[in-house]
Amino acid sequence: MNDWISDRNGTLYAEDVPLTAIAQQFGTPAYVYSRAAIRSAFAEFSQACAGRRVLVCYALKANSNLAVIDLLAREGAGFDIVSGGELQRVLAAGASPSRVVFSGVGKSESEMQMALEHGVRCFNVESETELHRLSRVAQSMGKLAPVSIRVNPDVDAGTHPYISTGLRENKFGISHEHAVSVYREAATLPGLKIVGIDCHIGSQITEIAPFVAALDKLAELVAELASHGIRLAHLDLGGGLGIDYDGEQPPSRKAMLDALFARIDADPTLRELEVMFEFGRSIVGNAGLLLTRVEYLKPTPAKNFAIVDAAMNDLMRPALYEAFHRIVPVAPRAGQPQSYDVVGPVCESGDWLGRDRLLAIEEGDLLAILSAGAYGMAMSSNYNTRPRPPEIMVDGDAMHLIRAREPVESLYDLETRLPG
Ligand SMILES: *Cc1c(COP(=O)(O)O)cnc(C)c1O
Repeated sequence: MNDWISDRNGTLYAEDVPLTAIAQQFGTPAYVYSRAAIRSAFAEFSQACAGRRVLVCYALKANSNLAVIDLLAREGAGFDIVSGGELQRVLAAGASPSRVVFSGVGKSESEMQMALEHGVRCFNVESETELHRLSRVAQSMGKLAPVSIRVNPDVDAGTHPYISTGLRENKFGISHEHAVSVYREAATLPGLKIVGIDCHIGSQITEIAPFVAALDKLAELVAELASHGIRLAHLDLGGGLGIDYDGEQPPSRKAMLDALFARIDADPTLRELEVMFEFGRSIVGNAGLLLTRVEYLKPTPAKNFAIVDAAMNDLMRPALYEAFHRIVPVAPRAGQPQSYDVVGPVCESGDWLGRDRLLAIEEGDLLAILSAGAYGMAMSSNYNTRPRPPEIMVDGDAMHLIRAREPVESLYDLETRLPG
């Protein structure tokens, strides 16, 4: 899974760069990404789509660093965004808004205006009221907003409740049974142009079946819409493919797409449509790690703690979802491993990065927290006035600083003391 990380003479390398060199040059904690790993993950998707009309979008929210956007734009990716801020990032990275789909349940008027001005590819609309708002905004600008309706197909993605989005009780999308009437209403509204249909059923999905089940639900709707004279140009199947964090065995990117294309090819109506995807985690998740240093080893009667210099503000997934990340020493030591809870310095009991990990470590050792390329830096915060870590992208034996460590002053730059 992490073939860009290797052990050479007892020390870990990221591509051809020793992690110790990164720690020495940029300090810890630090996020480290592999250019080759991101490229090869994306290439696996695009190769599985060869010869087809497909736009593989990258869901920016997984990791929105400009260098990552730039790299994927060069590889031919489109982009799935969920805010005006993410659109600004796409523009700042020099990528084209014509390859951007705009998702999200709460688009503001100003976000809609900005997206219309720049000419995004599609608005993935999530509610009737959003449809009316978009119609009004587009009309007032004399524009036609391209829309797709996000259908909630009510399939269980079999994943953590916080990252499952395709069930009836989730806040996302429009229910399958209402979808046709919402499309018919959209067809009557000025300022809108119906171009597609979309779904996104959740994240970290490790089976093919839920994706195919969602496609089946969409296929029914595409046929029903056609019978009402509503013809679509594209089908957007969202993202959500899982990765190996802890021995999970998700289908390969190719196996997943092959299964979906087989289903699409068998349906004369679907076959006519351009297909889009919105993958985030499966492109960058296993292309990143968080490098951290052991500050203290603290044995207590109940547990041993390894207190490291990374914390929940840097990598929130364990605290938020009880997510598992492998944690490995950069220079493994001989000696008896002991069980540690790997925790950060933040003043919260939820500030842990790994529990009950068998490690042979000493104070000052470097640890690599693996599979941290997605929803790591992107979800980070400054809690406890902790500057966010730098981000480094390795490329062969080169290391590129793609985001500097935040200076502490920048954390209160926008604040002012009271007058007088
Ligand atoms: C988060 C999200 C994605 C990406 O999900 P991954 O699990 O990272 O692939 C795609 N589409 C939408 C609408 C999303 O909200």
